[in-house]
Amino acid sequence: MATLVTACPICEGLIELRDPRKGLRVECPDCQGLWMVTSVSPLKLEVALDMENETIRADPSDEWPR
Ligand SMILES: [Zn+2]
Repeated sequence: MATLVTACPICEGLIELRDPRKGLRVECPDCQGLWMVTSVSPLKLEVALDMENETIRADPSDEWPR
């Protein structure tokens, strides 16, 4: 299985994704930020807002909330 490495959008620390897939949640080892994979190719991470909610949104939002 593929392993991808990407940079954390917040701290730019390296996040390793083993067998990345849409909806996968990852935690940044540096800042403990929680991210969700919203797209694999190209790889996109979005803030995982609610870890206790298992609902996976398939909304392909390209806009980064400011
Ligand atoms: Zn980070």
